Amino acid sequence: MRENDFSSVTKKQALKRANYRCERCWSEIDLECHHRLSLQLDGQSNLENCIVLCHNCHNIAPQDPFLLQNLFLRFASTKELLNYYNAKNEEEALKLFCLEMNINFRETLDKIRNDPSSHVCAIKDGMEKCVKEKGHAGFNIPYGYDYVNGKLVENKTESPLIKRIYEMYLAGQSMEKIAKLLNQEGVPSKQNKKWGSHTVQVILKNPLYYGFLHWGKYLNKGDYPPLIDKNTFTAVQATIKKRKTVVRRHLKKINVSTAIKS
Ligand SMILES: [Zn+2]
Repeated sequence: MRENDFSSVTKKQALKRANYRCERCWSEIDLECHHRLSLQLDGQSNLENCIVLCHNCHNIAPQDPFLLQNLFLRFASTKELLNYYNAKNEEEALKLFCLEMNINFRETLDKIRNDPSSHVCAIKDGMEKCVKEKGHAGFNIPYGYDYVNGKLVENKTESPLIKRIYEMYLAGQSMEKIAKLLNQEGVPSKQNKKWGSHTVQVILKNPLYYGFLHWGKYLNKGDYPPLIDKNTFTAVQATIKKRKTVVRRHLKKINVSTAIKS
């Protein structure tokens, strides 16, 4: 049991305010008063800082006030959370939750990992399963980075190549040519496979390299060091578009001349 020193008057007022129901699952039995901001975090024992929870919910309430308010009280179970975001696992649901709340995914994940509550533990267990199965949380570790303690950190051996790939492309090299050059130089790729134009393209089009993470259709500022600046990224996107148009025009010309000949 947690320490609870609400006065009997405060308890009565809180129960009345909550219509004598658990503010999370609406249960009417075993109601207890819970500190919204815990005593350890200097929460007061007044009505404003009091929520009514049933015994079960009280036992698993997270200590973090933000998670308590926005995750715990909003979703009565992990299943409800998954359903709400139409997510296939806890990781995906949590990412969508963070996007909705405009908060940092990695920081939230750390908070959940460090919270002693078993409700967030259910999410934590799901996340850790993902990490165990894939070796990391969420996405493939991008070239130029390592994944350390839930964060992307610069891999100083790989990172100069990112800059070079962007520069080579802006200097007029094609994606195929860049891949060919890297293979000739014997530069290993992330999975120790040969470089292909697709891998080069993925690097050139990934906003992650100027500090923004792509999740679905959203872009969120990441909590890690970018490897290139935004201007370089924007210039590369414009060049990709321009070269595509040139290729399309060229193909059109070939089609027209073939049509004339036939
Ligand atoms: Zn409850």
